[in-house]
Amino acid sequence: MTRDTAIAVAEAYFDAGTFRDDLADLVTYETESQNPAQLGELRRYLDQAILPRLTAAGFACVIHDNPVAGGGPLLTAARIEGADLPTILTYGHGDVIRAQTDQWRDGLAPFRLVEDGDRLYGRGTADNKVQHLINIAALESVIAARGQLGFNAKIVLEMSEEIGSTGLDDFFQRHRDMLAADVLIASDGPRLQPDVPTMFMGSRGCITFDLLLNLREGAHHSGNWGGLLADPAMRLAHALTTICDARGQIKVPEWRPDSLTPAVRAALDGLPIDEPTGPAIDRDWGEESLTPAERAYGWNSFAVLAMTAGVPDAPVNAIAASARATCQLRYVVGTDAADILPALRRHLDAAGFQAVQIVPQDRGFFRATRLDPDHPWARFVAASLTRTSGRPPYVLPNLAGSLPNESFAETLGLPTVWVPHSYRACSQHAPNEHVLKSVSRDALRAMAGLFWDIGEGGPV
Ligand SMILES: [Zn+2]
Repeated sequence: MTRDTAIAVAEAYFDAGTFRDDLADLVTYETESQNPAQLGELRRYLDQAILPRLTAAGFACVIHDNPVAGGGPLLTAARIEGADLPTILTYGHGDVIRAQTDQWRDGLAPFRLVEDGDRLYGRGTADNKVQHLINIAALESVIAARGQLGFNAKIVLEMSEEIGSTGLDDFFQRHRDMLAADVLIASDGPRLQPDVPTMFMGSRGCITFDLLLNLREGAHHSGNWGGLLADPAMRLAHALTTICDARGQIKVPEWRPDSLTPAVRAALDGLPIDEPTGPAIDRDWGEESLTPAERAYGWNSFAVLAMTAGVPDAPVNAIAASARATCQLRYVVGTDAADILPALRRHLDAAGFQAVQIVPQDRGFFRATRLDPDHPWARFVAASLTRTSGRPPYVLPNLAGSLPNESFAETLGLPTVWVPHSYRACSQHAPNEHVLKSVSRDALRAMAGLFWDIGEGGPV
């Protein structure tokens, strides 16, 4: 039995249509963690879709209640083959964001897998169901080819990632010993280009907060009071312009990271950032002195996610009482996470906007992490992916998006290597979410090769 056998088993799983059928089954579970009414569905996913399969593959599985009220259950699984063997931990999330049922293209429905050319549509296909399905199937392929993995494998599946990984860190703190491993190898997010494997070793952090300007009780007639009452929408818009300039360059000094070193710039140099099927990149947006890749992977970005004053759908002749903007900062290592909101407070105060309140949201806080691309496990994974695909993967110091990676990197103390199986135009978190069949097949091959190689001994 050889490495090629394991890869052939993974290919056959795809080519026979079993992969498609398995993904179709996972998509039927309406695992919207943002919808409290679906809490039962979150458990059903682990109990019925995942646990029987992992048990059949020789994993000892346990479903745990979330240590935090309102969080979904978690599944842990372990297949231990020997105390002297390397142990990998892998991770996925079975929950999805809201279905947005009315907004999908004609002929599509969020919880039914629809095949159209190279695309498989369905809520949660890309984020994250296909990703953990591929990794589980690749583990099975190695077991089928070798009779065993040749290493110890542990799996965590959570059901609350889309609400900020509720309880995940608490759970890890309580179960550090159970989850002890040599490395995290997991999958989420997109490849940089569909046909080239990508790996990243951390993620940008993310903090979401409201800026709220509440000037008085109730709205007042704009004829009688216009010119006499300050307009909260105008005041809030001016406050926002102190945070970023007209091309989106960050003006809060503490929000400008100090980590864009020559080594990181070298790692990012030449990475393709354009995505043919995605939106056109605005070259004149963001930090002017940086390349687009540096802006996304090596720098911080600020966004206004939503903004309101008055009643936008039915405006009346009145000066609004208040205005609100929901804002977000995505940030890299080299930004003091604890000082992000205090720094903004100081900045707004100095600009004369003491009345603008900063209201942090409890959800959507992830810290930034990174692993050196020269770490032995990062090099090992890169070499394995190169061997399978015949060309080196793209290596990112961190993902531009955010993940609960700090729980793995800091709470569990693991080196973290992510190998994403989606692509950037997958409409993750939007209607018409889909994965590409071609990428899925390629990823099954890559992961079967990687898990085979770990069973040969891992990095020395
Ligand atoms: Zn997501």
